[in-house]
Amino acid sequence: MYAINHAATALLLKKKGSTLPLLPLLISVQLVEILWVFFNYFGWEYFSVSGGKLHLDYLPYSHSVLSGIVAAAISFSIINWGYKNKKLAIAFAIGVLSHIVLDIICHEKDIRLSPFSATPVWGFGIIDHPFLNFGVEFFYGIFCWWYFKGSKALLAVIVIFNIFDLPLMFAGASSLGPIMHYPFILPSVILFQILITWYFIYRYATR
Ligand SMILES: [Zn+2]
Repeated sequence: MYAINHAATALLLKKKGSTLPLLPLLISVQLVEILWVFFNYFGWEYFSVSGGKLHLDYLPYSHSVLSGIVAAAISFSIINWGYKNKKLAIAFAIGVLSHIVLDIICHEKDIRLSPFSATPVWGFGIIDHPFLNFGVEFFYGIFCWWYFKGSKALLAVIVIFNIFDLPLMFAGASSLGPIMHYPFILPSVILFQILITWYFIYRYATR
């Protein structure tokens, strides 16, 4: 799932009027992706380009079901016992897990049960059908906004960033050349998307 709609998931956790701070919730829903970015920089995880398509094939450390559960459990422990905030600890843990669940819906079959198991791999492969991918993500993002009862400006943020994702969703074989030859480009683009969607969702959800 693209950054804007992972970020929008924080709105489901926050809801309007809730006492939970939005910033840690925004971090929770993208914690797994931040790990992916750095694991790609270190070369521990990698993607490939074949058949004119981008495949995120090797991401067992950041994006396995077990790593999601472990990351959620560690986060819960730190916030619950370290910061004595059980409500935030539960919401943060759910946010971490939401990332794996949403990516299983969107990704190709590349999400493993644990980093140590080559199989089974899960993924409904919505990403392979650009129109479906756009539709599902677009309406999911708007659902998060509607549930949160956000402002019109916040709706505009979600709509605009979803439209910005269209070129990536429909990226053809030729445009993938630079991504293939310079492996730092993709994680850097994703990191930039994470940061900018955090900023805009935070800015327009907390006004
Ligand atoms: Zn992800």
